[in-house]
Amino acid sequence: MNEHDSERIAGLLEADGMEHIDDIESADVVVMNTCCIRENADNRFYGHLGELKALKATNPDLQIAIAGCLAQKDRDAIVDRAGHVDVVFGTHNLHRAVDLLRDARTSGQPIVEILEEQEHDEFPSALPTRRESSFAAWVTIQIGCDNNCAFCIVPQVRGKEISRRMGDIVAEVADLAKDGVTEITLLGQNVNSYGRDLGAGQYSPKFADLLRAVNDVAGIRRIRYTSPHPKDFRIATIDAMSQCANVCEHLHLPLQSGSDRILARMHRGYTADRYLERLRAARTAMPELAVTTDIIVGFPGETEADFQQTLAVAEAGDFDGAYTFVYSSRPGTEAAAWVDEMLPASVTGERMERLVSIIRASSARRHAAYVGSTQELLIEGPSKRDDRRLTGRTRSHKVVHLDGGDGLRAGSYVQATITKAFSHYLEAQIDEVISVPAATRVRIPLTVV
Ligand code: SAH
Ligand code: SF4
Repeated sequence: MNEHDSERIAGLLEADGMEHIDDIESADVVVMNTCCIRENADNRFYGHLGELKALKATNPDLQIAIAGCLAQKDRDAIVDRAGHVDVVFGTHNLHRAVDLLRDARTSGQPIVEILEEQEHDEFPSALPTRRESSFAAWVTIQIGCDNNCAFCIVPQVRGKEISRRMGDIVAEVADLAKDGVTEITLLGQNVNSYGRDLGAGQYSPKFADLLRAVNDVAGIRRIRYTSPHPKDFRIATIDAMSQCANVCEHLHLPLQSGSDRILARMHRGYTADRYLERLRAARTAMPELAVTTDIIVGFPGETEADFQQTLAVAEAGDFDGAYTFVYSSRPGTEAAAWVDEMLPASVTGERMERLVSIIRASSARRHAAYVGSTQELLIEGPSKRDDRRLTGRTRSHKVVHLDGGDGLRAGSYVQATITKAFSHYLEAQIDEVISVPAATRVRIPLTVV
């Protein structure tokens, strides 16, 4: 979500005539788009902000803007702590970026503008976007979150849940397809509750309906989404995934904990058994499904017995991969008050090692099963480790490194045979090129509302 917000801020500045440059030393404007989901992002932000002070000392005309949910959380404190900041704005008013920079330049005074909530009519996805990829795009379907997970700061900083109208989403996807995009990722904090707030008493679309509608957009070959909440992950969604040819066989279903006691304290609204039962239903419908998850280690009061249950569910889940996080206390959340029950770093560190070794083993096992199979790959470009090789992804979101394929542009589709498996990636040989994108495409600007 945060990356996509950055693309939108960049799009707005470009639409105003600015140009993106890689060299920060020559920049006239620097925008830092921040995230406050975990404390280490906070710490890194304040480190970078310090570095910008030196830059402003050498270039007094430089404008520094701080955006995103950390800006929203720390608002005035940022200007108090860092007098070199010109503009602070939050997630609900990023559409104001250009105006705020201009006003600060004219007045010579720092401006802090944070809105608490977003309205339907100002849905931010209608803004121009500077897409990082020519062939893949994020599409926001919903903002905010109506849940109250005890550890999570998102509802505070992203506001109440608002779904975007289905027709607007489908129209944006169709525009993207005309612009050469073939892969889209639908974004929301809890995509399975999509549509609940639409319809005003009449029929409101569900996430499954949206998947089907987007599946029908010509030119789109791969549809991904993140994140579904396990408590709302319905059979209708599983059916839509398995019946829609363009919806990829990948599910990111955040578990958080395997202990029912901890899940209840977190207010997650499901038990470990219910989570595993949904997973089984999804795998039965889609035998090729790859499943990834998020797990928090060291939630306040987590006992060794609770953690053992997380290990058991991590084992039973047979995950393709997991993002594992040490619990981070966030101001204003319910769990932030449970200071007495915080676990020491020695305990969380040791638990994390045990969890990671289980996840590594299941991902190695699942990757090994790919060897010898034929997969459709979307080429993303040269490999970051070795630019003589190409990197692509399977429909199940596995990273694949390939030799050869000279002249294949990013955005090409190939058929390949998987030759080797490692815990984080696969290797493959190209059998056949399916399609290569046109060299240049006419960009179709999105309407600015
Ligand atoms: N809406 C998504 C989660 C978005 S936040 C969902 O409910 O599934 C992404 C991930 O960050 C979460 O799944 C969680 O594992 C992690 N996370 C959020 N707050 C955290 C905290 N305070 N400490 C550690 N990890 C956290
Ligand atoms: Fe945070 Fe829970 Fe909402 Fe996810 S569902 S964004 S974890 S409050």
